[in-house]
Amino acid sequence: MIEVRNLVKKYGDHLAVDHLSFQIEAGRIYGFLGPNGAGKSTTMNIMTGYLGATEGEVLIDGHDILKEPEEAKRHIGYLPEQPPLYMDMTVREYLEFAAELKGLKKKQRSGEIEEVEKMVRIKDVEHRLIKNLSKGYRQRVGLAQAVLGFPEIIILDEPSVGLDPKQIIEIRELIRKLAKNHTVILSSHILAEVREVCDYIMIISKGKLVASDTPENLERMLGQNNIVEIEAKTTPAEVRRILKNVPGIERIEAQSTGNGITKGSICEKKGADIRESVFRAFASAGIPLMTLKVSGTTLEDVFMELTQRDTVPAAFSKDTGWKELIPQAEETEAVSGPGQETEVVSGPERETEAPETADAEEVGTAEADIKEMTAGKGEEQDAGNL
Ligand code: ADP
Ligand code: MG
Repeated sequence: MIEVRNLVKKYGDHLAVDHLSFQIEAGRIYGFLGPNGAGKSTTMNIMTGYLGATEGEVLIDGHDILKEPEEAKRHIGYLPEQPPLYMDMTVREYLEFAAELKGLKKKQRSGEIEEVEKMVRIKDVEHRLIKNLSKGYRQRVGLAQAVLGFPEIIILDEPSVGLDPKQIIEIRELIRKLAKNHTVILSSHILAEVREVCDYIMIISKGKLVASDTPENLERMLGQNNIVEIEAKTTPAEVRRILKNVPGIERIEAQSTGNGITKGSICEKKGADIRESVFRAFASAGIPLMTLKVSGTTLEDVFMELTQRDTVPAAFSKDTGWKELIPQAEETEAVSGPGQETEVVSGPERETEAPETADAEEVGTAEADIKEMTAGKGEEQDAGNL
């Protein structure tokens, strides 16, 4: 339904999105989870055609968002982080305007606006000026705008930021309601929120996808298994080879620290205690093991760890378990071992393959035009407040 391939976005020298690839299937609620600055908004802006990518492509139902924007955008409703609301319009006027821009047929408009207003419960404020609404109501108006036209995919960037707890609960209920008939992608920097609402979580850190799975699987796999931390005087590839036949291992992350030492995190299968066999495996290979310790972990811990590291260790996938997602340069060979799976994102070598594209300009800033989010029809409107 949505396919994101090798997406890269550079702002000057800063790599905001770093070779991101994933797929979105119909009928689920997806959560983009990551700390502030992880690249969530940038990714969403690119996916919705707001922003050009430096490299890579986004296909919406097979249509390239940049090459066939009208066709691609027809499938998407978007609530950006800062919804481009026109403060001097009433709610109703704004929705009429948005409906027109989306190219909704005149006959349909009124009925559909009514339906959406009821759905997000803003019917009672439809004649109020947007500038006089509370943040919670404004957010609902933004949501209404995204839902208008009932596109298959609804993308919401931090939909509950700035809302009070009661409003957050309401927005969550709305999202669940929407998800009955739509595919929803939302972003958040709050783990609890994503866990609560989403069927599938994609953890993004420093522009990279570091883990993706259902909350249950992430919780189960990340939350309850012990991690055995090791340091060994050898390469990551060798660490993997040595550990390959040790039973009780769920996944391995291994990174070179640059001084001939490899740091590894070995996730044990539930109930296993692999310390002794790990020790023996290294001993029989004649490789010095410098550190061996167990660290218990919670989902919260893992989220923190995954999103605060400088390098990306691995990603978790429902079908194949942990895998190498972004191989380190010196580790590329190691991936041919256990991590040779489908979602492997090409790492640094990509830079040499891909043509140097000019740093793509923003297609439109948030205040520039709601038109960019919609089908791109209708006349210019004075820029309103945000
Ligand atoms: P998130 O939504 O996850 O908080 P963003 O996508 O907004 O992250 O930002 C990702 C990174 O890109 C951040 O380091 C941010 O400072 C940077 N960034 C975002 N927008 C711009 C911009 N227009 N110019 C330069 N840097 C930007
Ligand atoms: Mg953001």
